[in-house]
Amino acid sequence: MPLDFASMAVLIAINLVVIGMALPLVMGSPVSTAAQHAQKYFVLQAFGWGLILAAARLRGSSGDWALSFAATGAASAAQWQMAQALQSWLGPRPLRHWVASWCVLGPVGFALLIDSIPLRMAWYSACHAIVIASLGWMCLHPQRPAAASWRYLMAACAVVMGLSLTTRSYLASQALFLEGFTQDSLPNHIFAIIAQVCGSLTLVSMLVAWRDETNQKLRDLAMTDQLTGLANRRALLQAVPPMQALAQRQHLPLAVVLMDLDHFKAVNDQHGHTVGDEALQLLGQVLQAQMRADEIASRWGGEEFCLLMYADHAAVERFYQHLSTTLHAQSLQKLGFALHLSAGCALHSTEAPRPFTALLQQADNALYPAKNQGRNQLVLATATSPPPMAPVPAVAHP
Ligand code: GH3
Ligand code: MG
Ligand code: MG
Repeated sequence: MPLDFASMAVLIAINLVVIGMALPLVMGSPVSTAAQHAQKYFVLQAFGWGLILAAARLRGSSGDWALSFAATGAASAAQWQMAQALQSWLGPRPLRHWVASWCVLGPVGFALLIDSIPLRMAWYSACHAIVIASLGWMCLHPQRPAAASWRYLMAACAVVMGLSLTTRSYLASQALFLEGFTQDSLPNHIFAIIAQVCGSLTLVSMLVAWRDETNQKLRDLAMTDQLTGLANRRALLQAVPPMQALAQRQHLPLAVVLMDLDHFKAVNDQHGHTVGDEALQLLGQVLQAQMRADEIASRWGGEEFCLLMYADHAAVERFYQHLSTTLHAQSLQKLGFALHLSAGCALHSTEAPRPFTALLQQADNALYPAKNQGRNQLVLATATSPPPMAPVPAVAHP
């Protein structure tokens, strides 16, 4: 059974309303800013389709004029909502005013050319194409990080829509097929379907991408220590199995280093808790600057830090000496007093692999003599000999 244009338009309008209502389910409640704009887009589009159908019934009367003009207003307002939704997702848009201008010029030109159906259709389609092309350009130039795959999909939709609108504008200007937008002609059917598929696909993809990114940010937040910006205990524990597996597979040395700031209670007592926090942040920065990307430094709790690094005894010693020298210099410069730390280290053995908890316990055991023998030093323990080896003093500080 052939589907006439009016039935198709009704179906599209129902589809738009349903998507708009279902958005809170996809995005979760309360609905985000982008989703609110998307909802308005769907409602305005549905409203626009309703107006187009009503105008067709009044063809030739003054009601046709008013309703057709209102339909272009609703469609342009919907385009503006799409631009706003994109802005919420991709960051502030340099093209905002440009897009807004064409959203206004579309209906205004339509009103001025109201007596000529081909010309008003051609003008409005051209304005719509310009807006869509601008939105596509926005997708390719995000102001903040956003998933590329979704952006490219949206840009592809914009290209399809833009081409279809440009063709439509040209055909309309030549009065090749249009007696009216609602006429049952193949081009009208094709344009209506393309417009709806691309518009809905663009917004739904954007919202799903946006939700994914928000979820990722939440996950990152759950893995980060808020004060220092380092990984937290949970993140380190998650990194352990893959790092141990890689060390095992490729016979890499792997070290667990437990570090504790010396006399940190005295820092708080003498300089205040805020300065104590700054000291922890400073250590976080120094650690972050010194760790390699495939290793992990975490705030284990309080003023204790746990590192997991691909390093043997000698490499850990070098790392520790460089760390303590840098921390000493930077704390003197930035805080006005010197920070020192003690560390215990345990090594993963590929011949006799042991669980992380055992290594951590060993590093913790090594930290005791580091503290008891005067602090400001690293004590190395081997996997085979639980009693720690001789301490390695940090670079001598004045
Ligand atoms: P030691 O050399 O033996 O490690 O002595 P210490 O004073 O560093 O050790 P102690 O365990 O007695 O004190 C740790 C202090 O760290 C006590 C606590 O108030 C402080 N601390 C823990 N977390 C934070 C924090 O987030 N901010 C600040 N400013 N201080 C903290
Ligand atoms: Mg401590
Ligand atoms: Mg301490």
